[in-house]
Amino acid sequence: MSDSYDVIVIGGGPAGYPAAVRAGQNGLKVACIDDWKNFDGTHAFGGTCLNAGCIPSKALLESSELVHRAHEEFATHGINVGKITVDLAQMQKRKAGIVKASTQGILALFKSAKVTPLAGHGRLLPGRKVEYTSFDGAVHLLEARHIVLASGSTPMALRSVPFDGKQVLDSWGALEMTAVPKRLGVIGAGVIGLELGSVWRRLGAEVVVLEALETFLPMVDQQVAKEAIKHYRKLGLDIRLGAKVAGASSAADGVTLAYVDAAGDHTVVVDRVVVAVGRRPHTVNLLGDGTGVTLDERGFIVVDEQCWTGVDGIHAVGDCVRGPMLAHKGKEEGVMVADLIAGRYGEVNYRTVPSVIYTAPEIAWVGQTEEQVKASGRAYKVGVFPFMASGRARAMEAPAGFAKLIAATDDDEVLGVHVIGPMAGELIGEAVLAMEYSASAEDLQRTIHAHPTLSEALHEAALAADKRAIDFPNR
Ligand code: FAD
Ligand code: NAD
Repeated sequence: MSDSYDVIVIGGGPAGYPAAVRAGQNGLKVACIDDWKNFDGTHAFGGTCLNAGCIPSKALLESSELVHRAHEEFATHGINVGKITVDLAQMQKRKAGIVKASTQGILALFKSAKVTPLAGHGRLLPGRKVEYTSFDGAVHLLEARHIVLASGSTPMALRSVPFDGKQVLDSWGALEMTAVPKRLGVIGAGVIGLELGSVWRRLGAEVVVLEALETFLPMVDQQVAKEAIKHYRKLGLDIRLGAKVAGASSAADGVTLAYVDAAGDHTVVVDRVVVAVGRRPHTVNLLGDGTGVTLDERGFIVVDEQCWTGVDGIHAVGDCVRGPMLAHKGKEEGVMVADLIAGRYGEVNYRTVPSVIYTAPEIAWVGQTEEQVKASGRAYKVGVFPFMASGRARAMEAPAGFAKLIAATDDDEVLGVHVIGPMAGELIGEAVLAMEYSASAEDLQRTIHAHPTLSEALHEAALAADKRAIDFPNR
């Protein structure tokens, strides 16, 4: 093995592997070190996202949504399928196949960009050196002109409800269950709690979600959050807000969760618990003494707008640095850094990072919420278009939700777009592009949208902001 590189990337998740691929495309000599281990002890590139996050969760969300639709909608379509049964083993097998194809694909990408994959642990040492310990225990000293730290994040634990890998699970464990629990407790009504709670509810579990905050989805536009909680509750998610979990006691026949809310002390007994109270940056054994790289008070690697740590040649990207913990945010940071290293232009526009919650209805947004715009003091106008007025949504039997556009009153700039409804995560791409190009509401109004498509909802929301919607009465 060569021990000298132009670029060494530590971490092969969705922030690290794109950094390595782009650096390779830029003609640099690159290695990517990654120490992910699956439950069966095998290594795979792809980090949390491909192995235990985005991809497996979306596979199960898709399967379970089909089950739900088969129960709830097929008869309306005039499709009679008899008794619907779930083969969870097959569902999990399908998911595992998708994960495997995705993670193995990274090796093909590395090959094409001439990146050296190194399975094992990397530790940054002073003087742009990296100690690489392969899984067989051999230690190698590597050096590089540039080092990119992309060590990711891990689930936060609750001291009062410690993980045991059997009854009390983290999000990864929740994706690997081999039987549908009769009663599932979810702690945290954030993105993971709602997505994985939806999966197991659709597959038949009774799901109670305990959320410490009184406000549901505080980071989401509250008009959207209010719509969302109605649908989640209709699905059967028993969401209890303002519920502070005090402790848990496990027994053979279940876990008793104790929590406190405004009404007093309560207990709820469940078969499995998923703790989904956020993630923390992962930097365990990443930084040797004297590297000069610093962590903030929450454990994130300190970087500037260009993901530079302040130490010559050392950048950090993805979940281990500030900003939303999202795969696409990490990817853009990785690509930016690899381009900057090669002397090319690189930038991440943090104001246009989209967010998606892959529930049904799906939620997606970009830019500011109405609450944030109001707090900024800027005068604004709002256009809302409900999917029940969309021919395509009705044809899809998916009329729930709406598209909402917020624009500045003075110069018509689009400040935020929020969608709750079918394919919201796909629809938001148009809004991201619009905001990337500093579009006005009028620009969207004058853009032709095919009929009948869901994207017409964005068009109509833009028109509604000026009380010029065609397909819904203006208010
Ligand atoms: P990670 O994906 O955590 O990868 C870091 C990699 O570095 C790991 O392989 C780790 O083993 C390795 N590593 C760490 N330290 C070292 C070291 N010292 N030496 C060698 N290797 C090291 N985001 C979305 O945008 N969309 C979604 O739909 C979505 N769904 C999610 C669902 C779930 C259940 C979870 C848990 C997360 C989800 N996320 C989603 C978040 C997303 O997974 C993360 O934002 C993303 O994985 C972060 O990428 P990363 O490369 O920074 O870190
Ligand atoms: P989160 O921050 O989205 O939600 C955690 C929730 O737990 C919050 O609502 C918080 O108030 C609540 N909470 C915290 N402590 C609690 C306690 N003691 N008792 C009850 N509730 C408590 O975190 P997450 O859902 O764990 O997700 C972690 C990260 O992964 C997020 O940053 C998210 O962006 C990312 N992720 C993204 C996607 C996606 O893009 N679709 C999917 C899954 C995860």
